Amino acid sequence: MLGLLFPIDCVVCGLEGSWVCPECWENNCQRLKRRCFICKKLGENGLCKGCQKFTGLSELICGYSYKNPAIRELIIKAKYANYSNALVFLSQKFLDEAVDAEIDFDVVAYIPSSRNKFRERGFLQTKIIAEKLFRRNASVKILKVRETAAQAGLNKAARRENIKDSFLVKDNLRDKTVVVVDDVVTTGSTLKEAVRCLKMAGAKKVIGVTLAYD
Ligand SMILES: [Zn+2]
Ligand SMILES: [Zn+2]
Repeated sequence: MLGLLFPIDCVVCGLEGSWVCPECWENNCQRLKRRCFICKKLGENGLCKGCQKFTGLSELICGYSYKNPAIRELIIKAKYANYSNALVFLSQKFLDEAVDAEIDFDVVAYIPSSRNKFRERGFLQTKIIAEKLFRRNASVKILKVRETAAQAGLNKAARRENIKDSFLVKDNLRDKTVVVVDDVVTTGSTLKEAVRCLKMAGAKKVIGVTLAYD
C-alpha cells in the first residue's frame, strides 16, 4: 500500500520496486568474511583479539559496509528522513542470510537512542532492527540514563568518554547469553558500554549484532 502511494526506487540504479534492486544488491552488497568488523584485521567471530578485549563481546555479527553508498543511503534515510521501512528492508536482507541461525542466545536487547531523537523520529530504529532480525520482542531494556552528544564525528577516545556511564540495565540477566543490537558499529565504544552494563546485570555472554559496520 505504502509502495503504491510512495513508489520506491533502487538507490543505486533507479529501477522502481525496491530500495536496492536484486542486481545492484548482488553487485554491491556482499558481506565481509573472516575479518574484524571494527578494525578489519583478520579475526574470528567478527572480532580480532584486540577489539574483542576492548568491547568485551564474545562475538560480533554485522551486515553490510556503511562505506557502501547504497547501504549508507538507506541508513541515512531511516535516521534522518524517518523511512523506517528502509531499515526493515535491510534487516530482511540480513535475515535472508540466516543471521539468526548463526547464534545461540537467550534474550535480545538493543541500544537505546536519546529521548530527543526518539521524539523526532517517532520510532526506535535499533528496536525495529532487533525485532525484525530475531522475530521476538526485545525483552531486555538498556536504559539511557544520561543524554549524550552524537557519536558521529568524534574520535575513539572521545566516543568512549561521551557514552561512558550513560546506560543502565535493571533486569536480572544471570547466566543469560544476550544479543545486543545496534544500527552501525564504528569503534565499538557504544557496544563496549552496553556490554559493561549487561554483564553487571549478570549476563554471562554478550553477542553484538549490527546492520552495518563503518
Ligand atoms: Zn538497482
Ligand atoms: Zn579489531
